Amino acid sequence: MLIVMKKGATQEDIGRVIDVIRSKGWEPKAIKGGERTAIGVLRNDGAVDAGLFLDLSGVKEAIPVSKPYKLVSREMRPQKTAINFGEGVRIGDGSLHIIAGPCAIESEQQAIETAFKVKEAGAAFFRGGAFKPRTSPYAFQGLGIEGLKILKKVKEETGLFTVTEATDIDNIGYVAEYADIIQIGTRNMQNYSLLKEAGRSKRPVLLKRGMWATVDEFLMAAEYIMSEGNDEVILCERGIRTFTRHSRNTLDLNAIPFLMRETHLPLCVDPSHAAGRRYQVEPLSRAASVMGIDALLIEVHISPETALSDGPQSLSPDEFFNLCEELRGLGVL
Ligand code: PEP
Ligand code: MN
Repeated sequence: MLIVMKKGATQEDIGRVIDVIRSKGWEPKAIKGGERTAIGVLRNDGAVDAGLFLDLSGVKEAIPVSKPYKLVSREMRPQKTAINFGEGVRIGDGSLHIIAGPCAIESEQQAIETAFKVKEAGAAFFRGGAFKPRTSPYAFQGLGIEGLKILKKVKEETGLFTVTEATDIDNIGYVAEYADIIQIGTRNMQNYSLLKEAGRSKRPVLLKRGMWATVDEFLMAAEYIMSEGNDEVILCERGIRTFTRHSRNTLDLNAIPFLMRETHLPLCVDPSHAAGRRYQVEPLSRAASVMGIDALLIEVHISPETALSDGPQSLSPDEFFNLCEELRGLGVL
């Protein structure tokens, strides 16, 4: 249920609605719009009786929310969410932002060199994994805290905003301390304790779709984060498992217009992990970017042939530069 207040509703009017919600053991969530406030009802087991609110002063209407996800839904918040990073950078403001960098931070020199290259090409965000969830326990697992320190240095030297993955509740605190955005990876999309911890952190979260997850499950994962009080969630489509062999995953572009209709959250597309092959990254980026998404996540490595992870899908700095030029040519960057 969403209680929409009239334009001139006072703080006392809003307070009375909140009191009624609390008196029933439910949780109120005030959503401030440009002109009026709406109050969502959360943690109700059964249906909510609109009659509880309709006669209260300042209440315009009470709208039942039909979806299992509430906070992420357009029903609750019709206007698009934009996340402000400062310096005029807002993901969700209608323009396309580029998040680029290596799969993993391998050394200070590799990270800083890559960061300057992606900045020059047009990225405002640098990504690089410090804690790497690898399929094989014998594969490079990332530099851990050392990698986070390098990430911080990248920000200091380049001014780029930074993104890195938190893989469990033991490292999410460090990630929140060192990076501007906490990434939750595909393998952790339904790690509910990690999602809740991300919801309690004060950092924006880039939530990747589980490679096996339906879009509804994806939205419910975002709901976990928002239900803990963090409204700054970016959804990232990164490809799902299908029976194909011509790519690592299948980039589900159908999900994009669906998500645009269902949720106010900013949308990111990661063609690199969907493709798994370098030559597919550029066409997939072009396709996704003209759909009106908010961000593209691209893996870039100064030497893809020697990368310690995801080399086959990583672009060289020159290839990345050309991709950005293509996007500028399309008028989306
Ligand atoms: C990554 O971004 O390097 C990564 C591991 O992504 P995903 O969780 O989508 O596989
Ligand atoms: Mn990767």
